Amino acid sequence: MSNFVVGLTGGIGSGKTTVANLFADLGITLVDADIVSRQVVAKDSLGLARIAEHFGQNILLKNGQLNRAALRERIFSTPSEREWLNDLLHPMIREEMLDQLKKATSPYAILVVPLLFENGLDRLVNCTLVVDISPELQTRRTMDRDSVSAEQVQNIIASQTSRAEKLAKADDVIDNQGTVSALKSKVALLHNKYLKLADRT
Ligand code: ADP
Repeated sequence: MSNFVVGLTGGIGSGKTTVANLFADLGITLVDADIVSRQVVAKDSLGLARIAEHFGQNILLKNGQLNRAALRERIFSTPSEREWLNDLLHPMIREEMLDQLKKATSPYAILVVPLLFENGLDRLVNCTLVVDISPELQTRRTMDRDSVSAEQVQNIIASQTSRAEKLAKADDVIDNQGTVSALKSKVALLHNKYLKLADRT
C-alpha cells in the first residue's frame, strides 16, 4: 500500500511509456490513464451501458464493444455530445485511477497521464515528473513508432501544453535525448529520491 504518487507526463513520443516501464522494472506499480480510459468503457462496463443508453445501440459493434469510430463521429459533429461524454467519463476515469492507486503495492506509485496538466490531474499526485525531449527528436521518434507524417505529429504537439509550460510546472524533469541506458541511470536516481520522499509521507 502506498500513498505517495508521482505523476508522469510528457508530450507525444517523449518517452513516457519507456520511462514508466523502467520504473516498473524496479517494482513500481503503474497506473496508466490511457488504459483506465479504455477500461471504463470496456464491454459490459457501466460506462459503456450509459453510452449505449444515450446514443443508442448502434454505437456498439456486433461483438458488444464500443464502436469508437461511430462515437468519434457523433461527438465531433455535436459539441454538446462531446461535453455529455466528458461529464460522464472524466469522473469515472478519475475514480478508477484513484482506486487502482490505492491498491498499489509498491512504496510509491506512478500515474502516467499524457495530458496531466491539461486535465488538471496534477492535483491528484504528490509530485510531477516530465519527460523532456526536443521537438525535432520527438517528431522523429513518433514518426518512426506510429508511421505518421511530420505534419500529423506537429499538429498533435501544437494541441498539447507547450514544452516550456510543462518544464515550468514539473517538479522533476528527465531528459530523454540520449540512449535508453542513459535513461535507466536517471530513472534509478529518481527512484531513490521517490523512495525517500515516500518514506516521509
Ligand atoms: P510516449 O509514451 O511518450 O509517447 P514512447 O515511450 O512510446 O513515448 O517513446 C516513443 C518512441 O521512441 C518509442 O518507439 C520508443 O521505443 C522510442 N524511444 C524512447 N526513448 C528512446 C531513447 N532514449 N532512444 C531511442 N528511442 C527511444
